[in-house]
Amino acid sequence: MRTRMVAGNWKMNKTFEEADDLLFGIVDGLQSLKLEGMEVILCPPFPYMEMATDVAAEHPVRIGAQNVSQFSTGAYTGEISAEMLRSMDVDFVIIGHSERRKYFGETDEVLSAKVNQALLQDLSPIFCCGEQLEEREAGRHREVVQAQLEKGLFHLSDEDMKEVVIAYEPVWAIGTGVNASAAQAQEMHAMIRELVQERYGQALAQDMTILYGGSCNPANAAELFAQPDVDGGLIGGASLKADDFISIVRSL
Ligand code: PEP
Repeated sequence: MRTRMVAGNWKMNKTFEEADDLLFGIVDGLQSLKLEGMEVILCPPFPYMEMATDVAAEHPVRIGAQNVSQFSTGAYTGEISAEMLRSMDVDFVIIGHSERRKYFGETDEVLSAKVNQALLQDLSPIFCCGEQLEEREAGRHREVVQAQLEKGLFHLSDEDMKEVVIAYEPVWAIGTGVNASAAQAQEMHAMIRELVQERYGQALAQDMTILYGGSCNPANAAELFAQPDVDGGLIGGASLKADDFISIVRSL
């Protein structure tokens, strides 16, 4: 059974007090919604994790991290391990976000190691893939996404792959206000599901949650989520205002 999902990626935003307001704004707003068959995930910055997991213990939200180390433990100054996240009741981790690939030089090899670390600690990777504008304009978007999946994920066993969520995030749509059209999103999600099916079989592919990310907002969420292979969204900017985020969850 495929789980529908909305995940909010707060990125490097909000002071402690602002994060507290946003967190409680969201859980208050969720109270009036029926969330059967659906997961709402919040991915705050690391310093606010404990506040977030405390709130999640009492409310129908789950917590994800925005990053995890590719190493398990030891002398890696500044890094956060999967084991640490698991010990704080974090359930998900975003891996392969285009901002991590671009600003922090995360290669496919590093991302694949991060995926492995996450799964060893029973964290579900939300694995991001997506092409740059030039790649789409050159008609290379399908092959770029296929290569990202093959290098970052397709080494996994069937058992591990069942724990993975894929997020298709065209880089040209992230934070730009220009979302992929519903048809563009559906085409890429269907292709991703097909690739998963070729490698892991139909049952696993049909059950896999594939999120769309890139300028998803209250005005376009319903149309995007209505596509048969779009199972929800990974939301950046619009997850920073409780009302907008709740409105997106309501569209699911
Ligand atoms: C993201 O960064 O994952 C994202 C989807 O951002 P935005 O919604 O702001 O485009």
